[in-house]
Amino acid sequence: NKFEQLGLNPAILKAIEDMGFESPSEVQEKAIPILLEKDTDMVALAQTGTGKTAAFGFPLIQKINANSKQTQGLILSPTRELCLQITNELKNYAKHTPGLNTVAIYGGASITDQSRQIQRGAQIIVATPGRMQDMINRKLVDISKIEFCILDEADEMLNMGFFEDITAILSHTPKEKNTWLFSATMPKEVSTIAKKFMRTPVEITV
Ligand code: AMP
Repeated sequence: NKFEQLGLNPAILKAIEDMGFESPSEVQEKAIPILLEKDTDMVALAQTGTGKTAAFGFPLIQKINANSKQTQGLILSPTRELCLQITNELKNYAKHTPGLNTVAIYGGASITDQSRQIQRGAQIIVATPGRMQDMINRKLVDISKIEFCILDEADEMLNMGFFEDITAILSHTPKEKNTWLFSATMPKEVSTIAKKFMRTPVEITV
């Protein structure tokens, strides 16, 4: 099993076995060892369907401290559907990692319910930019101590007009963190975000 050579811990390897993944996809093979070993930023050019969720999800879950309730990881994604999909995937990946909680934050659903879920302790938040910004403004969420920030489908988020929200959200995060940006294409707005918020990212393409 090639997953065993990527540096993943036994709890994640067990989850991979449960899900029936037989071997890592290209983006997983390229990204996982780097994200696990290095304290680094990354820009990954990868389409949907390439297994990119696991490419960032496995290292994220392995690096999170499940003994602390502190929010440590933030994933921004363009739509409610993607948000829920990523959250479900992460819950599967963390099936054998006790104490690790992931919460989905998106528009069109009760902000009170989502706020309550965060209060119970969520090490990972998966959010759409609009609702996230709203919750930051209302002080319902604290991302001042996150260590990992993932921008998923960055080109889509920017296409949808989330530049201002993303910029505002990132301004509430600490400078010292790892930012991992995933995008199918690299238009100017995406490189602007990368230049503004990332520290010489490792670049991978699949
Ligand atoms: P994604 O590109 O992250 O949306 O993943 C696409 C689909 O492929 C999802 O349903 C994943 O559960 C699945 N998947 C991801 N990695 C693997 C793998 N290494 N082997 C088999 N299926 C995978």
